[in-house]
Amino acid sequence: MVTLGVTAAAQAPAHHWAIVLHGGAGVIERRTMDPKTEADYRASLAQAVEAGAKILDRGGSSVDAVEAAIQVLEDDPLFNAGRGAVFTADGKNELDAAIMDGSNLKAGAVADVTRTRHPISLARAVMEKSPHVMLVGAGADDFSASVGLEQVDPSFFFTERRWQSLIKQLKKEGRPIPPRPAGAPPQPLEPVAEIDAPGAHELGTVGMVALDRRGNVAAGTSTGGTQAKQWGRVGDSPIIGAGTYASNASCAVSATGAGEYFIRLTVAREVCALVQYKGMTLQQAADQVIHKELTALHGDGGLIAITPDGQLAWSFNTPGMYRARLAEGGKLQVGLFSDEP
Ligand code: ASP
Repeated sequence: MVTLGVTAAAQAPAHHWAIVLHGGAGVIERRTMDPKTEADYRASLAQAVEAGAKILDRGGSSVDAVEAAIQVLEDDPLFNAGRGAVFTADGKNELDAAIMDGSNLKAGAVADVTRTRHPISLARAVMEKSPHVMLVGAGADDFSASVGLEQVDPSFFFTERRWQSLIKQLKKEGRPIPPRPAGAPPQPLEPVAEIDAPGAHELGTVGMVALDRRGNVAAGTSTGGTQAKQWGRVGDSPIIGAGTYASNASCAVSATGAGEYFIRLTVAREVCALVQYKGMTLQQAADQVIHKELTALHGDGGLIAITPDGQLAWSFNTPGMYRARLAEGGKLQVGLFSDEP
């Protein structure tokens, strides 16, 4: 008994675990969001935090927590990741995801996958089961099947709300309307309500950063990209250093917003570099990149971040960002609008 006590003390965790997650940044405003939609978003964010927190609380790794929380949001049709992803101009869901382990700088990423239920798990498989960092398209889905990840018909990702949103945008821009995807449910007779504010079609990329009890940070991001994208467009989310980055030497970051700007600024790595080389606090570094560098380029979006010493941060230059955070022993904080802490 005594021995057990000593062992437990010797292995006492040096770190308190913590989580920050986002569900996309953009035009999220109180005046255009009905109470039910707001409550749904808050509940979904809380559920994802809970999935990650459970793992961290029992001593699990930050990588496990990131994967588990993002899986929850990939299955949630409210978010632009997995089921509920936006459509390309030719009517497909092409999914991007990345994950990075700050303890060893290992990373995995996928782009334009169409058959893997959980792209974040595929990114993890690339990191752990292949010699590569990034796989794209059909090859990525083939790899996914070869390592036994759940495969689905592409229509699994279909949601009526996103489909109607695509058609609306294409009509407005005078572009051709693709046929309704094979396997999609028949079009409802009643029009599908816009779920929230104008501009909502751009929203809903999901990301998570976590710190585990061993002091290791990890980051992950999953998205359908931007609505009506074409030509195999890939955004920042699966680009290591742009939308996703993690290093125990500095921090872990997941970004969301107009991906082209985040790629050009290597936003996630830039935040970590400011922490690592300029000695900025995490919040200072996040604000410097979002409110100065990104804003100077006229880019929109936000990010979440965490350091191995337990600093948590978020920053965005949009009217809102779906976000939540929880540190061990603390209170869950969920925010949507810019006037919330
Ligand atoms: N950053 C994502 C992309 O450009 C989209 C988003 O975060 O809303 O693909």
